[in-house]
Amino acid sequence: MSGRLTVRNLYKEYADPDEGTIVAVDDLSLDIDDGEMIIVVGPSGCGKSTTLRCIAGLTDPTSGEILIDGADVTDLPARKRDVAMVFQDYALYPHMTARENMGFGLKMRTDLPKAEIRERVDRVAETMGIGDLLEKRPDEMSGGQQQRVALGRAIVREPAVFLMDEPLSNLDAKLRTKMRTEIQELQNELDVTTVYVTHNQTEAMTMGDRIAVMNHGNLQQFGTPLECYHTPNNTFVATFIGSPSMNLIDVASGGTGTLDADAFTYHLTDALREEVPDGDRFTFGFRPEDVELSETDPDFEVDVTVVEPRGDLTYVSGDLGSQSVTLTLPGTEWIEEGRTVGVRVPADAVYLFDDETGELLFTRKSPTDGNTGAGGSADATENADTTENTASAENADRAENAGPTGK
Ligand code: ADP
Repeated sequence: MSGRLTVRNLYKEYADPDEGTIVAVDDLSLDIDDGEMIIVVGPSGCGKSTTLRCIAGLTDPTSGEILIDGADVTDLPARKRDVAMVFQDYALYPHMTARENMGFGLKMRTDLPKAEIRERVDRVAETMGIGDLLEKRPDEMSGGQQQRVALGRAIVREPAVFLMDEPLSNLDAKLRTKMRTEIQELQNELDVTTVYVTHNQTEAMTMGDRIAVMNHGNLQQFGTPLECYHTPNNTFVATFIGSPSMNLIDVASGGTGTLDADAFTYHLTDALREEVPDGDRFTFGFRPEDVELSETDPDFEVDVTVVEPRGDLTYVSGDLGSQSVTLTLPGTEWIEEGRTVGVRVPADAVYLFDDETGELLFTRKSPTDGNTGAGGSADATENADTTENTASAENADRAENAGPTGK
């Protein structure tokens, strides 16, 4: 019952009284495999919902095509597309029971006999563990229960494609974490092609096979979560994926194997030196969780301004010369505000970007590549550790995209 979904050169503009036109989605192309779950992520207004609505048939694209299993559905109305959508606000009919809500689409869109609709609803309710809700109306259910019913309603339709628009954003943090796992399990079990829109980067990192990162209507990267984390295409992806955000520092090439900023000189290892392209100015990047404190051999010193202990981790904000940086340290590490600490950035944690275009010039490789990047084989374990730490930090369900400095 599943389907391959192709979005080809999707472009959507809206008329705007002040600005003339707003380009909501700009030449977006995505090839989504049968049974794959992809997460569309990006800041508010980047075109996520418009993309989803164009796939659903709720918004007409200005140009471009939508194909399901190779068939062009661009001109088909929503009800004739083999897709089911789950919204943030559940959109259940208040006067109907959960059973009636779940069966309603089948009753309206198909000529399935009543008994079969009943059987399908029962089967899905059993799979989802919501059998006891079937005779209840929405006002007798909690938010989480309503969202389960809304999901169930999409599942009974047995569509080729599921479209989910921020389905968890009305739920509290704990329930959100639980439902996140439930949706993943259901999606694995049903194996239905799914496009899931969110601005929450924990969901982006953990739920999908691949992430499509968008900004200003443009696709910035379409890759696995770990590819986007380890080898971001540009500074936008680098700072959007990962929490707190990657630190970016303007540097000049010192010519003799160093990168110079106003407050430090970074000495490149021989292996790194060969990787650095010609050029005078770069943007030097390092993730907060990759640093080490070092009293004896620091790359630079940070004047600590704010310390936020979280128990498992400690977030430290501070000044590196004229620029602000964030460090993520083990929770066992205690630093007083106002202190100056020595910090080391290991060679395999260095990212380098073009200072004008923001494009990635150099990075370690993703551990899933089977290639450990500049540092050689010993670094494989180090990279894997980093990933694990990050995953557990994500599991703590920190506030979406919020680093301590609110970057
Ligand atoms: P996101 O889902 O990422 O927050 P949207 O797809 O909702 O982004 O919106 C993308 C851009 O298109 C925004 O600038 C938004 O203001 C604009 N937009 C969305 N829907 C409409 C509409 N119906 N009319 C005019 N502008 C719209």
